[in-house]
Amino acid sequence: MKLYPLFSSSKGNCTYIGNSSFGLLVDCGVSYRKLQGALLDNSLDIGKIRAVLITHEHTDHTKGLRMLTRHHAIPVYATPRTLDVLYDRGDIGSSAVPAEGTFSIGEALINPFPVPHDAVSPCGYRIDFEECACGVCTDTGKVTDRMVESLRGVNAALIEANYDSQMLKNGFYPKEIKDRLSSGMGHLSNRQCGEFAAQLIKSGTSQIVLGHMSENNNTPEYAMAGVTAVLTREGLESGRDYMLSLASQMYGKYISF
Ligand SMILES: [Zn+2]
Ligand SMILES: [Zn+2]
Repeated sequence: MKLYPLFSSSKGNCTYIGNSSFGLLVDCGVSYRKLQGALLDNSLDIGKIRAVLITHEHTDHTKGLRMLTRHHAIPVYATPRTLDVLYDRGDIGSSAVPAEGTFSIGEALINPFPVPHDAVSPCGYRIDFEECACGVCTDTGKVTDRMVESLRGVNAALIEANYDSQMLKNGFYPKEIKDRLSSGMGHLSNRQCGEFAAQLIKSGTSQIVLGHMSENNNTPEYAMAGVTAVLTREGLESGRDYMLSLASQMYGKYISF
């Protein structure tokens, strides 16, 4: 099983999960054209995508959905209230399926779970496929027991290291935005991400991918160092207990597990 974080940043998010003959997209927050480029770049066939799982309605997760679903009859899965918003905006050009409880798409078992974020009904996804499991859980204001429980034991997890607290504090963003980001309904700091990663690694996760990095309030170096510092403090060692990588903002390559 492979996880391709094709795009991951505050500008656009889209992850391909599966293999060359079966794929699921989590979010479609880049233009159809960019998505086509990234798939081509990874030798992936758009015709193998069986579903698009949407985490929430923010445009950095949905920008390309309208065009993708008009060109291809790929069903869209999202929580019922998120689906309502997507419908109202005209974002769905194909069929829509409410993502509730545990459901399967082909051989894959999908588990959506709620996350705290300032959207109508945001969720993360756990995907079990071919005796492996992975999770995508970005856009979360804090780490909840439900998130940790839902992702327990996944082989790989894409989680967010959105901002460095000091950079955010000293940065140019207006106070309201700074407050929103760190409110518990916004995004995770590098430190919070480290704490989340530590809990996942202790539950059996071996690969952690850091994504959804802010362009203005973080750097790849800060994200890696901030998360690693927490993991080290927790007695976890890179190489022995886990592998940590950073999702590219654009045209990312896969990790396999
Ligand atoms: Zn986002
Ligand atoms: Zn969001």
